[in-house]
Amino acid sequence: MSTESATFCPRCGDPTTEAETGATRRERALCNDCYFEDFDLVDVPDTIEVRVCARCGAVHRGNRWVDVGAQDYTDIAIEETTEALGVHVGASEFDWQVRPEQVDATTIRMHCRFSGIVRGEPMTEEVMVPVRISKETCLRCGRIAGDYYASVVQVRAVGDRTPTTEETERATEIANEIVADMEATGDRNAFVTEISEKPEGLDMRLSTTKIGKKVSRKLVEEFGGSFSDSETLVTEDEDGNEVYRVTFAVRLPEFVAGDVIDIEDDDGGPVLVRSVRGNLKGVRVTTGEPYEAGYEVGDAPDARKLGTTDDAVETTVVTVEDENSVQLLDPETYESKTVARPDYMDESSDTVPVLRSREGIHVLPDA
Ligand SMILES: [Zn+2]
Ligand SMILES: [Zn+2]
Repeated sequence: MSTESATFCPRCGDPTTEAETGATRRERALCNDCYFEDFDLVDVPDTIEVRVCARCGAVHRGNRWVDVGAQDYTDIAIEETTEALGVHVGASEFDWQVRPEQVDATTIRMHCRFSGIVRGEPMTEEVMVPVRISKETCLRCGRIAGDYYASVVQVRAVGDRTPTTEETERATEIANEIVADMEATGDRNAFVTEISEKPEGLDMRLSTTKIGKKVSRKLVEEFGGSFSDSETLVTEDEDGNEVYRVTFAVRLPEFVAGDVIDIEDDDGGPVLVRSVRGNLKGVRVTTGEPYEAGYEVGDAPDARKLGTTDDAVETTVVTVEDENSVQLLDPETYESKTVARPDYMDESSDTVPVLRSREGIHVLPDA
């Protein structure tokens, strides 16, 4: 009895062996001659057309633009050729090399050499694929070039003040950070269109309403205050849908850390503001006791601003009278005056920072 069971090539009828075809008796497989007759190690298109954004280098694939991180058109051509290759399932140890030849500004000939092992036989194939680059402008670059924006964040402050440099610089930083985070997740539509300084604050034009909302939220989270939004109909898109632009009006709190304020209907003495996140918190400059605005007042107590820690001047301590009072020199008149001594004032100090305002002279904490 023969151990070789007879199988036959379905095309030419020659007997085949399992060693030759790798197929078991039940599967019918072509003999090597028939198998290799029209064998292609790699399936490659005759030409490859690539739509590339001339501004940012993004490549159009399927129905969208994709950032491929390519340095130049040769890189893109290699990338797209790789994408287009279909390697035969029967090949193992597949490898390929390519020599790009730049024909003109938009045509690159890819001289490819493929190798692999098929049915135990090493094989090589050489193919030339022309890659044609068509330069276009992607949606995002078109929008950037057209100063497109879908939302505006207006950064303003309540009351007499305008946003501080710290606040406007941070606002700009937040917008750029949020856009960078969104870009990192592959969102190509996130960008900052324009940031402009206004006498009353800062205007930030952003590419989507989502970014506007995120920036507003983060600003309020960091600096207190609140924001509201309103829609304006700007146009209809090509499908007849109404397109709205959203304005986010951020109102930063009237007072900031470092302000000394006199709260209405309150006789506990002026308060040095330490924080306005959530509700206003600070310290009484008369006693050193902590102050915290109630929930209903939040970060906006009815109060007048007396000055800030930047207005403080060092003055000489004449004598510490007792726990609650100190005699010092009025920094303006140089007369001795007895004023309230807050508990943060060290009794051994020779000089202390004081704020002189219509409410009198108050000792501030050391900076
Ligand atoms: Zn055959
Ligand atoms: Zn682009």
